[in-house]
This record gives sequence, structure tokens and C-alpha cells, in this order.
Amino acid sequence: MVIRRFTVTGVSLAVTLGAALLGADPTVAATPQAGTAPRPSAASGAAHAAAPDIDVAKVQAHLTELHAIAQRNGGNRRSTGQGYRDSVAYVKNKLKAAGYAISEQPCTSGCSSGAGPNLIAEWPQGDAGTVYMFGSHLDGVGAGPGINDNGSGSAALLETALTLARENPAMAARVRFGWWTDEEQGLNGSDFYVRSLSRTERARIKAYYNFDMVASTNGGYFINHVDSAAAAPMKEYWDSLKLQPEENTEGAGRSDDYSFEQAGIPTSGYAMGAGARKTSAQAAKWGGTAYRSYDPCYHQSCDTTANINATGLNRSADGIAYTLWKRAVSGTGGGASAG
Ligand SMILES: [Zn+2]
Repeated sequence: MVIRRFTVTGVSLAVTLGAALLGADPTVAATPQAGTAPRPSAASGAAHAAAPDIDVAKVQAHLTELHAIAQRNGGNRRSTGQGYRDSVAYVKNKLKAAGYAISEQPCTSGCSSGAGPNLIAEWPQGDAGTVYMFGSHLDGVGAGPGINDNGSGSAALLETALTLARENPAMAARVRFGWWTDEEQGLNGSDFYVRSLSRTERARIKAYYNFDMVASTNGGYFINHVDSAAAAPMKEYWDSLKLQPEENTEGAGRSDDYSFEQAGIPTSGYAMGAGARKTSAQAAKWGGTAYRSYDPCYHQSCDTTANINATGLNRSADGIAYTLWKRAVSGTGGGASAG
């Protein structure tokens, strides 16, 4: 997540107030999987209503690789360095082997000089006119390896994408993943991507889901635009785990969902928090230490594989899969409807 706080514009303030006034989506009240684990992944490959469980050990294995990449490249994965390019290659090779249509998009305007490309991967099934997009920034700051920020979101998305390919369910809608460059320098990669889309292409994207810092060691459970229609499946999953998620106020305007929001695309996503401090009320309901940062290693050299909340990472990855299945896999009742 980027340090810079963006000025709250009239438009985004109106969106926030509108969501608050509308209150919770009534469909959220129905929690069909309340208190139960998602189905085991041993079921057959036809269309299913239930999402698979994402193996958190595999997500952590991706984090170990991203950490090693940083260590080989001066200790960071900054967008302009080889650590970022190697991160792109790692994700790309995994997706390619799984059957994804992949493109590297060089950021030719608005990015830092020498920044590596965005990586876009689309699962080539489902209605191409109805796209659900899931994204994470793959770059880090110069100060450290960037494992919670944002290896965590990047790795959770990668393993979700690989699980989708492995399960290969019948699709109602198209799923597209984005790993963004140069987020830490001002949300530049995602901004370039959104600007590169035609009006028609933008209209096809029914919702964009962002994942930035989803495994903070002293974190909480935050959802972007928590009461919006786009957020409904994300909230439904965390509600089923009794996590009592809150609005992601700290992250508003500070990650790549902002680029999509500015283009009028509905957005949501998970986050566990950055440099802001946990309140005593939050410590009472989620555990952890009050008056301490959600991520005490935010943008520091100690943001290593030791700086990962494995429980939070697991809950985030499973909720991403839940949302993807609910939105885009056929037979789930949510696939073709706008988010
Ligand atoms: Zn950051």
C-alpha cells in the first residue's frame, strides 16, 4: 500500500456516504455456509456452487520464493529493479504452465522511469462480456522485501488462479487477474491499465477486487466499501467466520482499487491493515495488541516471511476463492449479475 494519502474528492466522498446510507446489502443476511468449512477439494470437476479451500501452505511457498527473489536482488522488489522483474517472471511462469492467457503490459506513461510491466492473466472461459477482475500490486518499496506488502495479496491471488485452473469448473463469467507495477510510487501501474482500456472494455468489468496487505501480524479484518453490492461475497465469507469485518478506512485511496473506482467501476477487496494503530475495541474483538500498528514492519526491512499472519492469510485466500466462485463460476446464482 502506498504511503501517500490521496485527497478525498467530492466523488469518492459521495460514494462512501452513499454506501453508508444504503446500509448492508439484504442478500448478505443469507449466509449459506455460516460456520462451516468450504467443501473439500476432492469433488469432481463439474460446476459447483461451493468454492474450494485454498491451501495456505502453497500461498506461503510463493511468499518464500518472493522473499528469495528480494534477497538475490539487493533486498527489495521495487518496481524499477530486477527484484520486481524476477517477481513478474515467477508469477508468469506458474500461470503459463496452468493454461492462462497472459500478457505483460509495459507502463509507458505515468510510471517511474524503468518500472517493469503489469502482468495480466485471463482464464479463457465464460462470457467475455462479463468480467470480474482481481488484482494486487506485485512491486514493493526499496526498504525491504515486501512480503506482507504486497507479497501476501500477490501470492493469495496466484494460488487462487492456479486452483481455478486445476479445478476447471464451468464458467458463467470471465475472470481476469492483474499484478500491478509501481503501486508504491503512486498507484501508477493500475492507473495506466485502466486508462488503456476502451470505454467498451471498461464497461465489461463488473467489479474489481483488490488485495493489498492481507496477512498483517497485528491486523484486523477490513473490506473496501464493505456495505456495497460488490463487497457482498467478500463480507459474506468473513461473516461466516464471525470475523466482524470493518470498513477499510485506512486504505481508502491508497491502493489500486482507487484507479478502477475513478473510472466508475465497482470495487471491493480485503486488507488487514498497514501503519495505523489497532484500537482497544479492535483488539477486544480480533485479538492482537491495542495502540500498536496493524503491521509493525510496514515499509521496513523486517517485512519478511516472518512478518506474515498465516491465519489471516488463510482467511483472505479462502474468501477470494469464495468471491470468485460466487461471481464467475456457473450455477452459483451470482455469476452473471453485476457486482
Ligand atoms: Zn506499501
